[in-house]
Amino acid sequence: MALRLEVDERLVRLRTPLPTAWGTLEARTLFLVTLTGSDGVTGRGEAAPLQAYDGVSDDLCRAALGLLGEALAELDDDAPGHVVMDTLARTTDCGPALAAVDMALWDRGGRRLGRPVAGMLASDPLEAVAVHRTIGGVSPEQAEAEAREAATDGFTAFKVKVGLRDGIASGGPAPADLAGDLSRVAAVRRAAGAGARIKVDANGAWSVEEATEAIARLTAAPLRVAAVEEPVSGGEAWAQLRAALTAAGIDVELSMDETADREPGAVNRGPDVVEVKLARTGGIGTMLVRASLAQLSGTQVAIASTFDGPIGIAAAVHAAAALRIERPLGLATLDALDLTEHPDLAELAERLTPHDGAIPVPAGPGLL
Ligand SMILES: [Mg+2]
Repeated sequence: MALRLEVDERLVRLRTPLPTAWGTLEARTLFLVTLTGSDGVTGRGEAAPLQAYDGVSDDLCRAALGLLGEALAELDDDAPGHVVMDTLARTTDCGPALAAVDMALWDRGGRRLGRPVAGMLASDPLEAVAVHRTIGGVSPEQAEAEAREAATDGFTAFKVKVGLRDGIASGGPAPADLAGDLSRVAAVRRAAGAGARIKVDANGAWSVEEATEAIARLTAAPLRVAAVEEPVSGGEAWAQLRAALTAAGIDVELSMDETADREPGAVNRGPDVVEVKLARTGGIGTMLVRASLAQLSGTQVAIASTFDGPIGIAAAVHAAAALRIERPLGLATLDALDLTEHPDLAELAERLTPHDGAIPVPAGPGLL
């Protein structure tokens, strides 16, 4: 008997559009997959491509999932795991589609064994994963209101989008709107209090000079930003920025995101932390290998999402728990989705609600 892959495509809107340095995010297409074997046990996975960000279109992802479904249908469902993985990797290199099937395999495996995925990956996983609240490139007033609400909900860590140009996410050649970034971060600091940890994410939008000036201003009192994600883009710019910050005596945690995908070798060029994402690495197993290798070379690892749906978030939470990552991660993003037309997804998202700034690792069999 073969493994049967089914795909259910959903359009999910964000509650409010999220401006970032690469564009404004208004909706997500989620490809929900189920994988069923002859034993009737089903595993669930999810692909959430984001073309403006990672270049993978919905059409490409849909086609890749179709090919993966055909390949799985050819396999016996008692085929050894490595045969299944090799077959998938030969079929497509579309990261989000591969990750969806990989999640479904782990979920199905956990359900067959009656164990949570984190407990299959590690003997001593965390019970909850610390998360930060992400604030988009919005007005200071909106940023302050969102941060205040999150602080009331128990969040003590925040990530604020910066690097926008001309006050909006135009993505054009306008000069960096440093004043706008500073007032947005100041609003979050006001709402979150002096003890909160604030990180900013420029999505690679700054030049080395812009980043050096912005980081000097952002890390100084009273804003005291603790970490900066993808301030510049490309390994060469990263090396120049690290040298400029060292020369200026600025001590800040730098985390590399997009550059690490485009130039894997660049992880040696300045970051303290590297962000990994399931959709890019093609699945939980590959991501754990990549994360472990980075940890071995002295770089910390963070796991993030791109406003994924609940199954993608659950998979990232299990992986982070297995790796025992204690820094706050960018996984508290389900709140941004309007799930009123998708009650099944709303019910899953509910189980991943953060408490006191951490998402409890689902303890049931599989992912959720
Ligand atoms: Mg990022």
